Amino acid sequence: MTTQPVPSDAFCSDCGTAVDVHEHEGESRCPACFDRYLFDIDAGFLENYRKFGCRSRLVVAETCLRGLVTDTPEHRKVLAMTIFEQYVLSMNDLAGLFLAFRNRNEAPILKSFLEFRLNASNATGFFDAVQMATDVELVAALDLPLPVEVTARCPHLDAKDSYSLALAVYHLVQDLRKATDKGNVGALALSQFVGQAGGALIADDAKWLNGAASKLTPDQVAMLVLDPKRRGIYVQGLTADEGAMGQVVDAIDTATRAASNLIYAYLQSNHL
Ligand SMILES: [Zn+2]
Repeated sequence: MTTQPVPSDAFCSDCGTAVDVHEHEGESRCPACFDRYLFDIDAGFLENYRKFGCRSRLVVAETCLRGLVTDTPEHRKVLAMTIFEQYVLSMNDLAGLFLAFRNRNEAPILKSFLEFRLNASNATGFFDAVQMATDVELVAALDLPLPVEVTARCPHLDAKDSYSLALAVYHLVQDLRKATDKGNVGALALSQFVGQAGGALIADDAKWLNGAASKLTPDQVAMLVLDPKRRGIYVQGLTADEGAMGQVVDAIDTATRAASNLIYAYLQSNHL
């Protein structure tokens, strides 16, 4: 093991506290100042993410859907899997954002969001938090005003902005419900795929699997996941036709709109 020389600037750039560079090489802030810095940039992050980052999954999926119409059967399968991956990623982002908002008094939203990775436990937690709450409870959990409360709770908004905020909260609730209407089965399936998204092994047929995917039809593309517990290969078939993929793109649209309205409602109601 080599010993790194301690840099002369091994102090927090914000408050001057000594920073343990052996553990965090190159770190320039102490943990407390880092959190404060992240809290300070949360509103800027959210505004930019709402306009650009949160739309990225939808942009890729819609582009693939357009390509699906004209491409060869083999390429269609690649595009279909890419669309499905965008769906998984958009749900990862929505769940991460939702849970980051609920935790925003304990940790900066940007930090919670970047650290978030969907797994069986937090996916179920997210789906339950939406499905088991009434509309009033759901809006309260996010500390947003109900549409009827907007005028009283947000005197800083004019009539037009009040109306937009009430509409955003209304659609947010509808879209959160729609995005999680598959319940726990949906949550678990998502958490299974999220680890594979982008790096999954895909195959255009599964005859070579020695019977592991006998239900796979010729129009489907297969995503292969190693299942060490069952000592087998789990095969998820996906039908690469335009209609089925159109529904997946709709689901991405729902998740994207929910994320966007959640951020809009938070920024507007808190005068940020
Ligand atoms: Zn500091």
